[in-house]
Amino acid sequence: MKAYTYVSPGRFELIDKPKPELQDPRDAIVRITLGSICSSDLHIKHGSVPRAVQGITVGHEMVGVVEQVGDGVKTVKPGDRVTVNVETFCGECFFCKNGYVNNCTDPDGGWALGCRIDGGQAEYVRVPYADSGLDRIPDNVSDEQALFVGDVLATGFWAARISEIKPDDTVLIIGAGPTGICTLLCTMLHRPQHIIVCEKSPERASFIRRNYPAVEVVSPEDCIAAVRSRCSRGGADVVLEVAGAEDTFRLAWECARPNATVTVVALYDRPQILPLPEMYGKNLTFKTGGVDGCHCAEILSLIEQGKIDTTPLITHRYPLSDIAQAYRLFSNRLDGVIKIAIE
Ligand SMILES: [Zn+2]
Ligand SMILES: [Zn+2]
Repeated sequence: MKAYTYVSPGRFELIDKPKPELQDPRDAIVRITLGSICSSDLHIKHGSVPRAVQGITVGHEMVGVVEQVGDGVKTVKPGDRVTVNVETFCGECFFCKNGYVNNCTDPDGGWALGCRIDGGQAEYVRVPYADSGLDRIPDNVSDEQALFVGDVLATGFWAARISEIKPDDTVLIIGAGPTGICTLLCTMLHRPQHIIVCEKSPERASFIRRNYPAVEVVSPEDCIAAVRSRCSRGGADVVLEVAGAEDTFRLAWECARPNATVTVVALYDRPQILPLPEMYGKNLTFKTGGVDGCHCAEILSLIEQGKIDTTPLITHRYPLSDIAQAYRLFSNRLDGVIKIAIE
């Protein structure tokens, strides 16, 4: 089968590999029907994920059809349409039992697919712990609607949940890339009084204005002034930092009111400064990233009920054979791309 592979830092190639086989009774083999490219794939390509293993098939955002299951798999069977979870988790360890599945202590626990073990930018993928790694897609939900459930949408859902948003809150979301948009969609489920999105790209700002007219969009330059003028409490009640750009970490805590929650979803290329003397007395609560992707069934049910729709994020489609071209488009943010579906 064809598999897009991390050959060496800076180099991904579509190469032939044998079809994966069951290695454990809890494994499943899934035939991929639709996959996507995530900015974490680009981080692997650029060498900023040291634990990524050279030679593995990349890709951790996908949906497909179960082809084969081991004897120990209980929740899915061959023929089921499923979402694949970015995270592998055993369900048994301390962290799994407390819902912190990102920190599962299993050797394959956490983000393994498409990083430390073969992922899904291929025709087939082996999913360990299939009972927790796969969720059945409801019949009236399409592959396109379910495509982002296991990764970017799970991240938005988790980020909004841990931010403890209340009805009279003003929520600031910094960054309107794919994860920022998913964070926005999931923030909307909590119905805060006011949502402000800060985005520097005019193209992405207009995507938000067009699709979510109730949301206020500001540029980074105007962000602090806009937030302070809207919020009688001196800043946003909740800030979600999803940009991971230069200065956006600083912007996040500067825009927060005293005693606010600042949720850092972004993955940074370099260390950020936490200037505690400047923050002294602001009494902020910081929450940091690494999605616990264990709510996919709930997310699928929200999609089924029409409460979340991520299909507008799919701006481009490519066959697997043209995936190198899709990467070029995605990494250079050409042609208004937000997310690409790989068929
Ligand atoms: Zn990802
Ligand atoms: Zn575990």
